[in-house]
Amino acid sequence: MNNFSDLHVHQSKATSQIMETLHDGKLFKTLAYINGKWVCGDEEKPVINPHDNSIAGYFTQLNHRQINQAIDCADNAFQPWRKLQAKQRAEYLHRWYDEIIKAKRDLAHLMVIEQGKLLSEAEGEIEYGASFIRWFAEEAQRSYGETIPSHIDNAQLMTFREPIGVAALITPWNFPSAMITRKASAAMAIGCTVLIKPASETPFSALALAELAERAGIPAGVFNVITGNAQTISTLFCDSDKVKALSFTGSTQVGKLLLEKAAHTVKKCSMELGGNAPFIVLPDMDAKQAATAAAEARFQTSGQDCLAANRIFVPETLYPAFIARFAEIVEQQVMGSGLTPASTIGPLINRTTVSAAQELIADAISKGAHIEAQAKVPSTGNYFPATLLTQVTPAMRVYREETFCPIAPVIPYRSLEQVIEMSNDTEYGLAAYVYGHDIHQIWQCMRGLEFGMVSVNSVKMTGPPIPFGGMKQSGLGREGSKHGFDDFSEVKYCCLGALPTVSGS
Ligand code: NAP
Repeated sequence: MNNFSDLHVHQSKATSQIMETLHDGKLFKTLAYINGKWVCGDEEKPVINPHDNSIAGYFTQLNHRQINQAIDCADNAFQPWRKLQAKQRAEYLHRWYDEIIKAKRDLAHLMVIEQGKLLSEAEGEIEYGASFIRWFAEEAQRSYGETIPSHIDNAQLMTFREPIGVAALITPWNFPSAMITRKASAAMAIGCTVLIKPASETPFSALALAELAERAGIPAGVFNVITGNAQTISTLFCDSDKVKALSFTGSTQVGKLLLEKAAHTVKKCSMELGGNAPFIVLPDMDAKQAATAAAEARFQTSGQDCLAANRIFVPETLYPAFIARFAEIVEQQVMGSGLTPASTIGPLINRTTVSAAQELIADAISKGAHIEAQAKVPSTGNYFPATLLTQVTPAMRVYREETFCPIAPVIPYRSLEQVIEMSNDTEYGLAAYVYGHDIHQIWQCMRGLEFGMVSVNSVKMTGPPIPFGGMKQSGLGREGSKHGFDDFSEVKYCCLGALPTVSGS
């Protein structure tokens, strides 16, 4: 228990540091949010600032009973929420959107403190995440059913899209706000209530969203944030018959575990999992222009992005010029705190991730790879240098695995057929990039790449109107666009027959 009282001393210090950085200190919440109330669990857990490994604050850990109560509350809130008109739900969501945009600066600061990314990236994420709320608020008002030409005499056939019920949303730390809003806005707009389990590294961004949902007047029980032990929470969600859908964003490894757990109650599952994105430079591309785009696609969010360019393929003819320019870019990177304007790459999320990156480099070097260029890193915090790696082969882990750090392996290729085959040689299938001019080659890539999203000549590819999601072991389902409702709704078919007239009546 001594440790417990120490926690409170730490908490008050850490809390005051965060409060100083926020204009609106009430956005910093450490308790869970259930049924419109802030709930204290049995224990607390620290959140570590990746920039310097100081304690940013503590957040509560709910117990079994409290988690089950949260499930009951979300279930009780479902019928009244689904019975509102789509327009009425949209009005709540628009108010929530407005609150988030008003609080953008503070939300971004909170995110930098717990996640480490650059302030500009954090602000971009808040806007990106909020844009889904506005999109789905509108889109739900157009979630039409169908009428079907009848094959049955005297019957009208039709479908309705109905909300599935309580949806459990489990989210990762790399996009601590947008991965919540991308799911929750679709679910809530169509009429579901949600139970959110944020990553333990980044609970404060999730809890701040709850504070803003409360300010927007979203009814109690519709939006709940459940903090605590991941295995306990996910088991209770998966075992409950009241939870009808499970939407997960995170690693493929954990996604597989959750699919198994959710099988017992036959939940509708959607999975946004890991990636191993190829970045293909076509032979008619300017090497310097391609290097700039590839570096952007590799280093955003310190490389901790499911869309990050994980393997960069360059034609042999362009290879020397590309490497020369990419090396310059790597050496120019300023690695530092997300709150320092000069920084271009922030820290990794924790020490474990830094060790994992070191192991990837060691594996590659032991198999013949060469470090062509490396950025400088601060001496403290969870920094790993932006690194250009050459002489990379398919036998190396950096080629096979989602690296989630700023290591850039650049691999030469000879023909288009070869590079498409190399790109597809992975169990992942989330996103791919192609840069070039020749429309025939671009078309071959667009159709030949086994990835859910192929972006040509643009690093930016996501946003509310597009169906975000992966093939193969990168996941199941799509988020955003009209398809974003599929995982949170059922298509109900109704056959409306006409009774024959009874003679004499
Ligand atoms: P993770 O380790 O799979 O964790 C994701 C979430 O699952 C967290 O809330 C975590 O809770 C929880 N979790 C961890 N172990 C669990 C278990 N055994 N049972 C139940 N829940 C568990 O992933 P991450 O490291 O946070 O995120 C990085 C991964 O997310 C990468 O693979 C990345 O590609 C993927 N990602 C994919 C997309 C996409 O849209 N496809 C977007 C972003 C990220 P705790 O934090 O409490 O452990």
